[in-house]
Amino acid sequence: MNPIGYGRQFISQKDIDLVVETLKSDYLTQGPMVSEFEQKFAKYVDAKYAVAVSNGTAALHLCNMVLGTKAGDKVITTPITFAASANAVLYCGGEVDFVDIDPKSYTIDLDALEAKLASHPVGTYKGLVPVDFAGYPVDVERLRAIADQYNLWIIEDACHAPGGYFTDKQGEHQLCGNGRFSDLQIFSFHPVKHIATGEGGMITTNNEELYKKLLLYRTHGITKEAELLTENHGGWYYEMQELGYNYRLSDIQAALGVSQLDRAKEGVASRNKIAQKYNQAFKGMAITTPFVDASVYHAYHLYIIQVEDRKGLFDYLKEHQIFAQIHYIPVHLQPYYKKLGWKKGDFPMAEAYYEQCISLPMFPTLSEEEQDYVIEKVIEFVSA
Ligand SMILES: *Cc1c(COP(=O)(O)O)cnc(C)c1O
Repeated sequence: MNPIGYGRQFISQKDIDLVVETLKSDYLTQGPMVSEFEQKFAKYVDAKYAVAVSNGTAALHLCNMVLGTKAGDKVITTPITFAASANAVLYCGGEVDFVDIDPKSYTIDLDALEAKLASHPVGTYKGLVPVDFAGYPVDVERLRAIADQYNLWIIEDACHAPGGYFTDKQGEHQLCGNGRFSDLQIFSFHPVKHIATGEGGMITTNNEELYKKLLLYRTHGITKEAELLTENHGGWYYEMQELGYNYRLSDIQAALGVSQLDRAKEGVASRNKIAQKYNQAFKGMAITTPFVDASVYHAYHLYIIQVEDRKGLFDYLKEHQIFAQIHYIPVHLQPYYKKLGWKKGDFPMAEAYYEQCISLPMFPTLSEEEQDYVIEKVIEFVSA
């Protein structure tokens, strides 16, 4: 058996062909492939606008910029996420606060969030960064209602969940990132995520004003659009109107994205099949399997179980060439965040979860044979 990682990209011949074709075209940096990727991606998640950027972290940074995060602004996220969800607030001079996780879905606990907001004057916080953790969609309909009460914006970190959805009060499926309830949504195309472009990211929104700002800030704050210019010296003329960045995606990467997107839906279905097989196999064992809720379609970026002896299992799997991973070390316990004043004990649910969580191999090309082997080794360990 070859080594098995917790996640793995799949690059088809068709993907390669489209990248090669792009290499032979006129555009290498942002060009027609980026536009096509944006249009197709917006359609895939059912959002009005999409803006491709260089990675998911750049997406988070741009979102904070266009929403106006500045020194002293307080933004709430979850401690169980990749550090970037929180870091982007700091990039803009803001302050990060956390709300503990719901021990079932592992996403931000909306009851605890409401309680926290209620205990502070309106205006204390500016925004929320919920995370569709592991691919489990946050109920952003309820979150929007909470946010509106306190005048907060929402950046939904949907990196784990393209293709996932929850069911709203009307019984309608709401795809993660469709912008119906959140102001801005972000995605990453890091190779372990659903869609790979090497490095890459996307922001979706239904808000035209924010969309236009994102376009401006993605390219140095520079515009050439005639109706936006304050002067016009001729055909060469452009203006730098804001302090933006170079957060563009290249056409080479976008070509990979366009081709990968064609298989994305299938990929989520495969992930669900793999999850069901794990769930079935671990029934009745001393293993906590992911929360299953009929009203959500889990995107299963990760398949996370909880076990008593997590370190033991991690090491045992490693000995057998199965490279599980831990998602995540709580952000507030990272040394950098501890320096900001956070400490062990601040978020007990997140910390308890961290002690026992482990992500098993989960990717569409995981073979039956490989999965059987993983299941065998996990069961061997927990029943020993
Ligand atoms: C991957 C990831 C990011 C960052 O994306 P990059 O493309 O690696 O910058 C942000 N948030 C979450 C939840 C992620 O999983």
